[in-house]
Amino acid sequence: MNIDYDVVIIGGGAAGVGAARQLAASAHSTLLLEATSRLGGRAWTYQIAGHPLDLGCGWLHSGDRNSWTRIAEEAGLPVDRRPAKWGVQHRHLGFSPREQKEAGEAFGAWFERLSVAPPASDRASDALPSAGEWNGYLEAISGFISGAPLDRVSVADYLAYDSASTKVNWRAPHGYGDLIVASVPSRTALRLSAPVEAIALEPQGVAIRTRSGDVHAKTAILTVSTAVLAGGAIKPPKALDPWLEAASVLPLGRNEKLYLEVVGESPFAAETHVLGDPRDPRTAAYSIRPFSRPVIECFFGAEGAEMIGDRGLAAGFDYAIGQLAALFGAEARRSVRPLIASSWGRATHIRGAYSYALPGRATARLELARPFEDRLFFAGEATSVKDFSTAHGAHDSGVRAANEALAALQRRSDRDSGVRRSGAASRTATSESRPKRRSPPAT
Ligand SMILES: Cc1cc2nc3c(=O)[nH]c(=O)nc-3n(C[C@H](O)[C@H](O)[C@H](O)COP(=O)(O)OP(=O)(O)OC[C@H]3O[C@@H](n4cnc5c(N)ncnc54)[C@H](O)[C@@H]3O)c2cc1C
Repeated sequence: MNIDYDVVIIGGGAAGVGAARQLAASAHSTLLLEATSRLGGRAWTYQIAGHPLDLGCGWLHSGDRNSWTRIAEEAGLPVDRRPAKWGVQHRHLGFSPREQKEAGEAFGAWFERLSVAPPASDRASDALPSAGEWNGYLEAISGFISGAPLDRVSVADYLAYDSASTKVNWRAPHGYGDLIVASVPSRTALRLSAPVEAIALEPQGVAIRTRSGDVHAKTAILTVSTAVLAGGAIKPPKALDPWLEAASVLPLGRNEKLYLEVVGESPFAAETHVLGDPRDPRTAAYSIRPFSRPVIECFFGAEGAEMIGDRGLAAGFDYAIGQLAALFGAEARRSVRPLIASSWGRATHIRGAYSYALPGRATARLELARPFEDRLFFAGEATSVKDFSTAHGAHDSGVRAANEALAALQRRSDRDSGVRRSGAASRTATSESRPKRRSPPAT
């Protein structure tokens, strides 16, 4: 078998790009295979009417220790460091100061229970007060954070993310997706529209099957989402069953972004934020005219995103416009019109938003991140124990997997040169011994 590449990276999202950048600093040949016709995966900046709109990741979470912040700075790209407005309800519309205080206290009490006396079930909903007045609000927040209702969320997993987060959230004004895509090193070989269909183990490494033939490599780094991995789109060797099981208990939540265009005179002030209905678990959160652009980003999580999946985008836009009209007045309807929307739940090669761990299964992230022998390595946001669900967690997991692959290649090279050395040594010993055997014994 001829080896085509030292490393093949499967998937060109933030993790695949992180791995490619790390490998580009080495002498090893690297190929990145991406199923779709674009790089970025869940990092996708859509340019519309001159405005870069992020359909996937938008916030540089833990911005002060986020690898993409450093990469943006090194590339001379701006980073907006103004604090996020999520906690500020513009003009207290539909959410009075008293209600905000009560909702904040309900969140605080729930979080305290998680931290101090976590439920034995590890199920986040088991720390909710029964029939608590603000349970709908807490479900909405869980929808934004995890993309899932609280009865599916592991407490240990939730707390691991929360304790690692620096709570500093910045933005990339030119688009987070574009920042990630622009960071692909020029020396990485790329194949787009090249979905991997199967991976097989071979004596010298792995064979990666694509529509246009097999690629043979010493090692591969698999970065596809847990939903893709567990969903069977790639036929793996039987030995990878434990990795598939780990992926299946780290499902992707549901989150979608809908963008409205703001037209003419409008009641919408730049750089403001509102929650549509703080008691409705389906509610969207609205970032109004970010960077003073004439758009509103409507962010749906869990129940809200599921509603859009079930009823369609038109119903999602209607719901969002209805919520805004309820807050800003009926005339606000004339100031907005549907512009563009994500559809992550239906994207064949993604199938959801970001991973959360089912109750009792937080350690699956470590199980998923384990290398398989010295040839298959796993990256992607879901393999990060503390920065999962983010683009920087994905990046750092790619760097970790690339380092593991580099160490494996080094071991292999040491083994091979050890074999060569011992082969040469035994040849030398043989040639030295022959004359001795032939020589008459000295007397
Ligand atoms: C609506 C939304 C909002 C978000 N907001 C934020 C945010 O503000 N901040 C933040 O940090 N994160 C956010 N995220 C999460 C962040 O986008 C992801 O965690 C991160 O981009 C995941 O990167 P990844 O490389 O692990 O996976 P992916 O981006 O899924 O990359 C995997 C790649 O593999 C490819 N692939 C799949 N199957 C195959 C195959 N068979 N062969 C070859 N290639 C294949 C896919 O096409 C994809 O390009 C958001 C996500 C969503 C959906």
